[in-house]
Amino acid sequence: MEKARCVAVVLAGGRGKRMKTTLAKQYLMLQKKPILYYSLEVFEASDLIDDIILVVGKGQIPYCRREIVENYQFQKIRAVVEGGAERYHSVWEALKILEQNGMKKGYVFIHDGARPFINEEILTRAYQEVCKSRACVVGMPVKDTIKIADEQGCIHMTPKRSLVWQIQTPQVFAAELIIPAYREVIEKEQELLEQGVLITDDAMVVENVCGCSVKLVEGSYHNLKITTPEDLEIAKILVKKRDLEKS
Ligand code: C5P
Repeated sequence: MEKARCVAVVLAGGRGKRMKTTLAKQYLMLQKKPILYYSLEVFEASDLIDDIILVVGKGQIPYCRREIVENYQFQKIRAVVEGGAERYHSVWEALKILEQNGMKKGYVFIHDGARPFINEEILTRAYQEVCKSRACVVGMPVKDTIKIADEQGCIHMTPKRSLVWQIQTPQVFAAELIIPAYREVIEKEQELLEQGVLITDDAMVVENVCGCSVKLVEGSYHNLKITTPEDLEIAKILVKKRDLEKS
């Protein structure tokens, strides 16, 4: 079967306030390379991915072009765009480009630039699943028992652990599904906010708008998102281990 066109949207438009550094977390160094470099490298090297759209923070386009795109000579990055206030605004900035280019077929891999440890196996699993089901997200079953709290900080309920997954990225969708779904969410944003719905991942957009089911695909426990200084300590160990395995 002929491979479908696949576009990776890599998000690096957050400010990373929880990292408590002046430099946004995606530009912090991990073994002499910025965190953002690692996921871009995997998409660049993957035969599945045709194009990359990189979303960066306000005023960061020149810095990112020079320090990331040119410095590491990425060839598949077709556009560097400015993101928005929330993650979903940033995704929409990239999807608008695909919409303007008339992308109706193929798949969009939406990925957090703060997750450096994706690999080709994860991309392949996600691609195989999205070809069948049109919508899938990478994640892992939780190891801890998860509690849902109430507003008073007391336990409200305990979901059955075998059904609880922690969700990662990439989140992968048919272009014909995700572009109109995002357009609709942006159009009814005010209504959703008034209902207390804050969109924190892409699957939520599809669940909210299309009511269509989103498949779960196994990612990796190493596929962590670097959010706080503790995550950076773990990432340093993982990247050293990976380099040792490569050598
Ligand atoms: O804030 P959070 O850790 O959930 O962000 C996940 C990813 O989304 C990060 O890679 C971050 O840079 C990106 N992001 C973005 N635009 C925003 C907020 C987050 O591109 N407004």
